[in-house]
Amino acid sequence: MTPETLRLWDRDHLWHPFTALTDWEAAEPLVIDRAEGVYLFDVQGRRYLDGVSSLWCNVHGHRHPTLDAAIRDQLDKVAHTTLLGVSHPTAIELSRRLVELAPEGLTRVFFSDDGATAVEVALKMAFQYWRQKTDPEPKRTRFVALGGAYHGDTLGDVSVGGVDRFHAMFGPLLFPSLRVPSPHCYRCPLELQQPTCALACLNAVDRVLTEHPGEVAAIVVEPLVQGAAGMIVHPDGYLRGLRELSRAHDTLLIADEVAVGFGRTGTLFACEQEDVHPDILCLAKGLTGGYLPLAATLTTEEIYSAFRGTYTEGKTFYHGHTYGGNPLGAAVALASLRVFDEEQTLDQMVPKIARLAERLAAVREQPHVGDVRQRGLIGAIELVADKASKAPFPWADQVGARICMRARDFGLLVRPLGDVLVIMPPLSITLEQLDEMLDILFQCLSEITEGLA
Ligand SMILES: *Cc1c(COP(=O)(O)O)cnc(C)c1O
Repeated sequence: MTPETLRLWDRDHLWHPFTALTDWEAAEPLVIDRAEGVYLFDVQGRRYLDGVSSLWCNVHGHRHPTLDAAIRDQLDKVAHTTLLGVSHPTAIELSRRLVELAPEGLTRVFFSDDGATAVEVALKMAFQYWRQKTDPEPKRTRFVALGGAYHGDTLGDVSVGGVDRFHAMFGPLLFPSLRVPSPHCYRCPLELQQPTCALACLNAVDRVLTEHPGEVAAIVVEPLVQGAAGMIVHPDGYLRGLRELSRAHDTLLIADEVAVGFGRTGTLFACEQEDVHPDILCLAKGLTGGYLPLAATLTTEEIYSAFRGTYTEGKTFYHGHTYGGNPLGAAVALASLRVFDEEQTLDQMVPKIARLAERLAAVREQPHVGDVRQRGLIGAIELVADKASKAPFPWADQVGARICMRARDFGLLVRPLGDVLVIMPPLSITLEQLDEMLDILFQCLSEITEGLA
């Protein structure tokens, strides 16, 4: 097919997610058809650095020989069989490996296929757990969730989500969450300075839990970094504080590590950094190294036990997805975890994390850079119209989007969150490639913002 045919067929038939359709139809689509390492190639043969890890999921680069081989080997056995009433070796082995690696206490693995399903499973699991453990009457019907939270696009996830732009439309379909302020220190919802802000945010959670005794099934949180909200980096101790509050108020903690899991923050799981053992852990994106859709919801023996029962006891978790635990996905997930060992991915990240910090510190001084944030190999630059007042650019100006579009001309593919530029390369990126990426991004940042008042 010629690039021109692809362009026409795409415009005529393909509905792109999170995409303004009129703008899309008017623009020249970028059509990627192959990749190598941290680079993507479009149908015209142009090369782009994959600065968003193909939507925050690629870990070891594209076409990694070990990952490719794992899929081929599995393909020679079977592409898909179900976990409903049947099992298979790769899912068994992966569940064992995840339990070995995950924070202590998580001993049970429920597979599904996407981040959204991993969290949806977690919510339903928490709800049903309480009904079978203590209250046959559904008393614990509430979830505590953060402002700006993003947990996926199914209706349960949207109910605990807090990004208005994504969720306002579906308000009438959602269950109400107990919303607590996000500890977003640059734009503190309580207008406090650090460390008072983090403490005040935890106090707000304490208050909500005190006001709703016995009503909260779980607190849901993206540990350390709230992704879609704009890469909001939580202050140290906040996650630990949430864990303590959930214990003190006898409720569960659901850690949504869909975006931050698998090395992204510098440790295999973000929870490790605050020595937090959640009751439920949601994994997806990086689980397969960014190769195939596979997700896992891990939980404790305590929660699993509440579901133990015969058919007639009615304790069964009536939830499952056709492709949950798919053998190809499980095989490549196992291979990805092997590569973490073989290539010492986490150790190799240390100098790259330091380089990113240095380079972000330098860009902080630019006139329209309001805030820079980082955790591991997640970087974010929040652009503002006015540094002193932190006033944002008018939404319609699309400053972030324009910078990222311009970056394509220099061979960098990045996707902003509003006016927050996101730096999220595959963990396998080299120092030189990271510099190349930041050179392009900063150059486009200067070019586009120079023309603005
Ligand atoms: C991306 C994301 C999800 C949803 O994952 P999908 O695979 O897109 O359904 C859930 N939670 C967080 C924190 C995410 O970043």
